[in-house]
Amino acid sequence: MSRRLLPVSISAALMGGTVLADVPNVAADIAPVHSLVAMVMEGVGTPALVISPGASPHEHNLRPSEAAALQEADLVFWLGEDLTPWMEGAIETLASGATVTTLLETDGTILHDFRESTLFEAHEHGEEGDHDEHAEDRDHDGHDHEEHAEDDDHNHEEHAEHEGHDDHDNHGHGDHDPHAWLSPDNAETWLNLIAAQLSSADPDNAGAYFANAAAARAEMDALSAEVAGILEPVRGGSFIVFHDAYQYFEDAFDFPASGAISLSDASDPSPSRIAEIQGRIHEEGIDCVLAEPQFNQGIVNTVLDGTDAKTGVIDPLGSDLEPGKALYAQVIRNMANTLAECLN
Ligand SMILES: [Zn+2]
Repeated sequence: MSRRLLPVSISAALMGGTVLADVPNVAADIAPVHSLVAMVMEGVGTPALVISPGASPHEHNLRPSEAAALQEADLVFWLGEDLTPWMEGAIETLASGATVTTLLETDGTILHDFRESTLFEAHEHGEEGDHDEHAEDRDHDGHDHEEHAEDDDHNHEEHAEHEGHDDHDNHGHGDHDPHAWLSPDNAETWLNLIAAQLSSADPDNAGAYFANAAAARAEMDALSAEVAGILEPVRGGSFIVFHDAYQYFEDAFDFPASGAISLSDASDPSPSRIAEIQGRIHEEGIDCVLAEPQFNQGIVNTVLDGTDAKTGVIDPLGSDLEPGKALYAQVIRNMANTLAECLN
Protein backbone atom coordinates (compact mmCIF):
# COMPACT_ATOMS: atom_id res chain seq x y z
CA MET A 1 0.00 0.00 0.00
CA SER A 2 1.47 3.34 -0.93
CA ARG A 3 1.55 6.02 1.71
CA ARG A 4 -0.45 9.01 0.72
CA LEU A 5 -1.03 12.15 2.66
CA LEU A 6 -4.63 12.07 3.79
CA PRO A 7 -6.54 14.12 6.29
CA VAL A 8 -6.35 12.37 9.64
CA SER A 9 -10.06 11.56 9.78
CA ILE A 10 -10.09 9.80 6.37
CA SER A 11 -6.86 7.99 7.14
CA ALA A 12 -8.31 6.65 10.39
CA ALA A 13 -11.43 5.50 8.58
CA LEU A 14 -9.32 3.59 6.02
CA MET A 15 -7.20 1.91 8.68
CA GLY A 16 -10.09 0.74 10.78
CA GLY A 17 -12.71 0.08 8.19
CA THR A 18 -13.48 -2.27 5.36
CA VAL A 19 -12.62 0.20 2.64
CA LEU A 20 -9.28 -1.43 1.87
CA ALA A 21 -9.09 -5.21 1.85
CA ASP A 22 -5.32 -5.57 1.89
CA VAL A 23 -3.82 -8.95 1.23
CA PRO A 24 -1.69 -9.82 4.29
CA ASN A 25 2.10 -9.85 4.15
CA VAL A 26 3.21 -13.45 4.49
CA ALA A 27 6.70 -14.84 5.22
CA ALA A 28 7.83 -18.48 4.96
CA ASP A 29 11.08 -19.96 6.29
CA ILE A 30 12.49 -22.22 3.52
CA ALA A 31 11.83 -22.46 -0.22
CA PRO A 32 9.64 -25.63 -0.12
CA VAL A 33 7.35 -24.14 2.55
CA HIS A 34 7.32 -20.84 0.65
CA SER A 35 6.26 -22.84 -2.41
CA LEU A 36 3.27 -24.33 -0.60
CA VAL A 37 2.21 -20.87 0.58
CA ALA A 38 2.65 -19.51 -2.95
CA MET A 39 0.35 -22.27 -4.28
CA VAL A 40 -2.37 -21.23 -1.83
CA MET A 41 -1.93 -17.50 -2.54
CA GLU A 42 -1.91 -17.86 -6.31
CA GLY A 43 -3.83 -15.04 -7.97
CA VAL A 44 -4.10 -13.17 -4.66
CA GLY A 45 -0.59 -12.34 -3.51
CA THR A 46 3.03 -13.45 -3.20
CA PRO A 47 4.71 -14.61 0.02
CA ALA A 48 8.22 -13.55 1.05
CA LEU A 49 10.97 -16.15 1.50
CA VAL A 50 13.06 -15.70 4.64
CA ILE A 51 16.00 -18.09 4.14
CA SER A 52 17.62 -17.62 0.76
CA PRO A 53 17.85 -20.70 -1.45
CA GLY A 54 21.28 -22.28 -1.21
CA ALA A 55 21.75 -21.51 2.48
CA SER A 56 21.54 -24.33 4.99
CA PRO A 57 18.67 -23.64 7.37
CA HIS A 58 20.54 -25.56 10.08
CA GLU A 59 22.94 -22.68 10.53
CA HIS A 60 22.24 -19.33 9.10
CA ASN A 61 22.80 -15.65 9.80
CA LEU A 62 19.78 -13.56 8.96
CA ARG A 63 20.55 -10.96 6.31
CA PRO A 64 18.93 -7.50 6.52
CA SER A 65 16.52 -8.28 3.66
CA GLU A 66 15.51 -11.54 5.35
CA ALA A 67 14.98 -9.76 8.66
CA ALA A 68 12.81 -7.23 6.81
CA ALA A 69 10.61 -10.02 5.46
CA LEU A 70 9.91 -11.10 9.04
CA GLN A 71 9.43 -7.54 10.23
CA GLU A 72 6.77 -6.81 7.62
CA ALA A 73 4.94 -10.10 8.01
CA ASP A 74 1.35 -10.35 9.22
CA LEU A 75 1.60 -14.14 9.00
CA VAL A 76 4.69 -16.35 9.37
CA PHE A 77 4.86 -20.03 8.35
CA TRP A 78 7.92 -21.95 9.55
CA LEU A 79 8.83 -25.56 10.35
CA GLY A 80 9.96 -24.83 13.91
CA GLU A 81 13.00 -24.69 16.13
CA ASP A 82 14.00 -28.30 15.44
CA LEU A 83 15.04 -27.15 11.96
CA THR A 84 16.08 -23.55 12.67
CA PRO A 85 16.83 -23.10 16.39
CA TRP A 86 18.28 -19.65 15.66
CA MET A 87 15.03 -18.41 14.10
CA GLU A 88 12.79 -18.54 17.15
CA GLY A 89 14.36 -15.43 18.68
CA ALA A 90 14.23 -13.64 15.33
CA ILE A 91 10.50 -14.30 14.99
CA GLU A 92 9.86 -13.17 18.57
CA THR A 93 11.69 -9.90 18.16
CA LEU A 94 11.05 -9.07 14.50
CA ALA A 95 7.58 -10.52 13.92
CA SER A 96 6.11 -10.00 17.38
CA GLY A 97 2.75 -8.86 16.00
CA ALA A 98 2.44 -11.61 13.39
CA THR A 99 0.32 -14.76 13.49
CA VAL A 100 2.97 -17.51 13.59
CA THR A 101 2.24 -21.06 12.40
CA THR A 102 4.79 -23.68 13.49
CA LEU A 103 4.21 -26.49 11.01
CA LEU A 104 6.01 -29.23 12.98
CA GLU A 105 3.62 -28.60 15.88
CA THR A 106 0.37 -28.70 13.94
CA ASP A 107 -2.24 -31.45 14.20
CA GLY A 108 -2.10 -34.14 11.55
CA THR A 109 1.59 -33.65 10.73
CA ILE A 110 3.49 -36.93 10.36
CA LEU A 111 6.56 -36.76 12.62
CA HIS A 112 9.57 -39.09 12.77
CA ASP A 113 11.96 -39.30 15.70
CA PHE A 114 15.45 -37.86 15.42
CA ARG A 115 17.68 -40.82 14.50
CA GLU A 116 20.59 -40.95 16.95
CA SER A 117 22.68 -43.25 14.76
CA THR A 118 23.80 -42.67 11.20
CA LEU A 119 23.69 -46.40 10.46
CA PHE A 120 20.03 -47.09 9.83
CA GLU A 121 18.62 -50.46 10.75
CA ALA A 122 18.04 -52.70 7.80
CA HIS A 123 14.42 -53.75 7.37
CA GLU A 124 15.21 -57.43 7.66
CA HIS A 125 17.26 -57.16 10.88
CA GLY A 126 16.34 -59.24 13.91
CA GLU A 127 19.50 -61.07 14.85
CA GLU A 128 19.70 -62.19 18.44
CA GLY A 129 22.21 -59.47 19.24
CA ASP A 130 19.57 -56.82 18.68
CA HIS A 131 17.30 -58.27 21.33
CA ASP A 132 20.11 -58.48 23.88
CA GLU A 133 20.99 -54.87 23.29
CA HIS A 134 17.42 -53.77 23.73
CA ALA A 135 17.20 -55.70 26.98
CA GLU A 136 20.33 -53.98 28.24
CA ASP A 137 18.95 -50.59 27.36
CA ARG A 138 15.90 -51.25 29.44
CA ASP A 139 18.05 -51.96 32.49
CA HIS A 140 19.24 -48.40 32.52
CA ASP A 141 16.05 -47.05 34.09
CA GLY A 142 14.99 -45.23 30.95
CA HIS A 143 18.08 -43.07 30.81
CA ASP A 144 18.77 -44.22 27.27
CA HIS A 145 18.60 -40.74 25.88
CA GLU A 146 21.25 -39.16 28.07
CA GLU A 147 23.46 -42.19 27.67
CA HIS A 148 23.20 -42.02 23.93
CA ALA A 149 24.09 -38.36 24.08
CA GLU A 150 27.23 -39.15 26.07
CA ASP A 151 28.26 -41.99 23.82
CA ASP A 152 27.50 -39.96 20.79
CA ASP A 153 30.37 -38.97 18.56
CA HIS A 154 29.36 -35.35 18.44
CA ASN A 155 29.82 -34.52 22.10
CA HIS A 156 31.21 -31.24 23.30
CA GLU A 157 34.74 -32.46 23.94
CA GLU A 158 35.11 -33.68 20.40
CA HIS A 159 33.71 -30.46 19.08
CA ALA A 160 36.25 -28.51 21.05
CA GLU A 161 39.00 -30.51 19.35
CA HIS A 162 37.83 -29.37 15.93
CA GLU A 163 38.92 -25.79 15.79
CA GLY A 164 36.57 -23.37 14.13
CA HIS A 165 33.61 -25.68 14.51
CA ASP A 166 32.33 -24.14 17.73
CA ASP A 167 29.21 -22.99 15.94
CA HIS A 168 27.89 -26.52 16.14
CA ASP A 169 26.94 -25.90 19.72
CA ASN A 170 24.05 -23.92 18.28
CA HIS A 171 22.77 -27.02 16.51
CA GLY A 172 20.46 -28.05 19.28
CA HIS A 173 18.05 -30.70 18.15
CA GLY A 174 14.70 -31.65 19.55
CA ASP A 175 13.01 -35.00 19.59
CA HIS A 176 11.97 -34.94 15.95
CA ASP A 177 13.64 -35.06 12.60
CA PRO A 178 12.65 -31.62 11.25
CA HIS A 179 12.70 -32.43 7.49
CA ALA A 180 8.97 -33.09 7.47
CA TRP A 181 8.31 -31.19 4.22
CA LEU A 182 9.76 -34.13 2.28
CA SER A 183 6.52 -36.04 2.87
CA PRO A 184 3.93 -35.00 0.26
CA ASP A 185 1.30 -36.13 2.78
CA ASN A 186 2.51 -33.44 5.16
CA ALA A 187 2.45 -30.95 2.30
CA GLU A 188 -1.22 -31.78 1.74
CA THR A 189 -2.02 -31.33 5.44
CA TRP A 190 -0.23 -27.98 5.52
CA LEU A 191 -1.92 -26.70 2.34
CA ASN A 192 -5.25 -26.87 4.19
CA LEU A 193 -3.79 -25.25 7.26
CA ILE A 194 -2.18 -22.45 5.25
CA ALA A 195 -5.52 -21.79 3.51
CA ALA A 196 -7.30 -21.65 6.88
CA GLN A 197 -4.76 -19.25 8.41
CA LEU A 198 -4.79 -16.98 5.37
CA SER A 199 -8.58 -17.02 5.33
CA SER A 200 -8.89 -15.88 8.93
CA ALA A 201 -6.49 -13.01 8.23
CA ASP A 202 -8.10 -12.18 4.89
CA PRO A 203 -11.70 -13.48 4.77
CA ASP A 204 -12.43 -11.67 1.50
CA ASN A 205 -10.14 -14.08 -0.34
CA ALA A 206 -11.03 -17.24 1.57
CA GLY A 207 -12.70 -18.77 -1.49
CA ALA A 208 -9.54 -18.37 -3.58
CA TYR A 209 -7.28 -19.74 -0.82
CA PHE A 210 -9.35 -22.88 -0.31
CA ALA A 211 -9.83 -23.49 -4.05
CA ASN A 212 -6.07 -23.13 -4.59
CA ALA A 213 -5.34 -25.50 -1.71
CA ALA A 214 -7.71 -28.12 -3.12
CA ALA A 215 -6.08 -27.91 -6.56
CA ALA A 216 -2.61 -28.13 -5.00
CA ARG A 217 -3.56 -31.21 -2.99
CA ALA A 218 -4.65 -32.92 -6.19
CA GLU A 219 -1.23 -32.03 -7.66
CA MET A 220 0.45 -33.63 -4.61
CA ASP A 221 -1.43 -36.87 -5.25
CA ALA A 222 -0.30 -36.86 -8.87
CA LEU A 223 3.26 -36.09 -7.77
CA SER A 224 3.33 -39.04 -5.36
CA ALA A 225 2.19 -41.39 -8.11
CA GLU A 226 4.80 -39.98 -10.50
CA VAL A 227 7.64 -40.35 -7.96
CA ALA A 228 6.64 -43.93 -7.14
CA GLY A 229 6.94 -44.65 -10.87
CA ILE A 230 10.40 -43.06 -11.07
CA LEU A 231 11.66 -45.12 -8.12
CA GLU A 232 10.09 -48.44 -9.12
CA PRO A 233 12.89 -49.64 -11.45
CA VAL A 234 15.61 -49.06 -8.81
CA ARG A 235 13.85 -50.53 -5.78
CA GLY A 236 16.22 -52.56 -3.62
CA GLY A 237 19.19 -50.33 -4.47
CA SER A 238 21.24 -49.25 -1.47
CA PHE A 239 22.25 -45.66 -0.82
CA ILE A 240 23.78 -43.41 1.81
CA VAL A 241 22.87 -39.75 2.13
CA PHE A 242 24.98 -36.82 3.28
CA HIS A 243 22.84 -35.81 6.24
CA ASP A 244 19.89 -37.63 7.72
CA ALA A 245 17.25 -35.49 6.02
CA TYR A 246 15.29 -38.03 3.98
CA GLN A 247 13.39 -40.07 6.55
CA TYR A 248 10.05 -38.56 5.47
CA PHE A 249 10.73 -39.24 1.80
CA GLU A 250 12.00 -42.76 2.59
CA ASP A 251 8.84 -43.50 4.54
CA ALA A 252 6.43 -41.90 2.05
CA PHE A 253 7.81 -43.99 -0.82
CA ASP A 254 8.98 -47.03 1.17
CA PHE A 255 12.48 -46.45 -0.13
CA PRO A 256 14.88 -46.70 2.83
CA ALA A 257 18.41 -45.29 2.97
CA SER A 258 21.16 -47.42 4.54
CA GLY A 259 22.71 -44.59 6.46
CA ALA A 260 23.85 -40.99 6.56
CA ILE A 261 27.30 -39.46 6.89
CA SER A 262 25.97 -36.76 9.21
CA LEU A 263 23.07 -36.59 11.66
CA SER A 264 19.77 -34.86 11.01
CA ASP A 265 21.07 -31.57 12.47
CA ALA A 266 23.83 -31.56 9.81
CA SER A 267 26.62 -31.37 12.39
CA ASP A 268 30.04 -32.32 10.99
CA PRO A 269 30.68 -36.05 11.29
CA SER A 270 33.55 -37.16 13.52
CA PRO A 271 36.36 -39.29 12.05
CA SER A 272 34.91 -42.35 13.79
CA ARG A 273 31.51 -41.77 12.18
CA ILE A 274 33.12 -41.45 8.76
CA ALA A 275 35.02 -44.69 9.37
CA GLU A 276 31.78 -46.39 10.42
CA ILE A 277 30.05 -45.33 7.20
CA GLN A 278 33.02 -46.42 5.08
CA GLY A 279 32.82 -49.80 6.77
CA ARG A 280 29.16 -50.14 5.87
CA ILE A 281 29.77 -49.15 2.23
CA HIS A 282 32.35 -51.94 1.93
CA GLU A 283 30.43 -54.58 3.90
CA GLU A 284 27.09 -54.06 2.20
CA GLY A 285 28.34 -53.04 -1.24
CA ILE A 286 26.42 -49.75 -1.11
CA ASP A 287 25.49 -48.60 -4.63
CA CYS A 288 25.27 -44.86 -4.17
CA VAL A 289 26.49 -42.07 -1.86
CA LEU A 290 24.70 -38.75 -2.24
CA ALA A 291 26.17 -35.28 -1.68
CA GLU A 292 24.16 -32.11 -1.11
CA PRO A 293 24.77 -28.61 -2.51
CA GLN A 294 24.71 -26.97 0.95
CA PHE A 295 27.43 -29.16 2.44
CA ASN A 296 31.08 -30.16 2.19
CA GLN A 297 31.71 -32.29 -0.93
CA GLY A 298 35.16 -33.16 0.45
CA ILE A 299 33.64 -35.35 3.16
CA VAL A 300 31.64 -37.27 0.54
CA ASN A 301 34.80 -37.76 -1.54
CA THR A 302 36.59 -39.11 1.54
CA VAL A 303 33.78 -41.56 2.17
CA LEU A 304 33.70 -42.64 -1.49
CA ASP A 305 37.45 -43.13 -1.69
CA GLY A 306 38.32 -46.74 -2.49
CA THR A 307 34.70 -47.84 -3.06
CA ASP A 308 32.75 -48.66 -6.22
CA ALA A 309 29.76 -46.60 -5.14
CA LYS A 310 28.39 -44.02 -7.55
CA THR A 311 27.60 -40.49 -6.44
CA GLY A 312 25.13 -37.74 -7.20
CA VAL A 313 23.89 -34.51 -5.67
CA ILE A 314 20.51 -34.53 -3.96
CA ASP A 315 18.88 -31.28 -2.90
CA PRO A 316 16.06 -31.27 -0.32
CA LEU A 317 15.70 -27.46 -0.46
CA GLY A 318 15.64 -26.63 -4.16
CA SER A 319 18.67 -24.36 -3.98
CA ASP A 320 19.03 -24.17 -7.77
CA LEU A 321 15.34 -23.66 -8.43
CA GLU A 322 13.34 -20.50 -8.82
CA PRO A 323 11.34 -19.95 -5.61
CA GLY A 324 7.60 -20.09 -6.23
CA LYS A 325 4.64 -22.41 -6.53
CA ALA A 326 6.35 -24.89 -8.88
CA LEU A 327 9.37 -25.44 -6.61
CA TYR A 328 7.92 -27.95 -4.16
CA ALA A 329 6.97 -30.60 -6.72
CA GLN A 330 10.29 -30.06 -8.54
CA VAL A 331 12.26 -30.67 -5.32
CA ILE A 332 10.54 -34.01 -4.73
CA ARG A 333 10.72 -35.03 -8.41
CA ASN A 334 14.43 -34.10 -8.64
CA MET A 335 15.21 -36.15 -5.54
CA ALA A 336 13.56 -39.19 -7.11
CA ASN A 337 15.36 -38.66 -10.43
CA THR A 338 18.74 -38.24 -8.68
CA LEU A 339 18.20 -41.46 -6.75
CA ALA A 340 17.09 -43.34 -9.86
CA GLU A 341 20.16 -42.17 -11.82
CA CYS A 342 22.61 -42.94 -9.03
CA LEU A 343 21.14 -46.43 -8.43
CA ASN A 344 20.75 -47.31 -12.09
ZN1 LIG B 1 18.77 -30.71 7.02
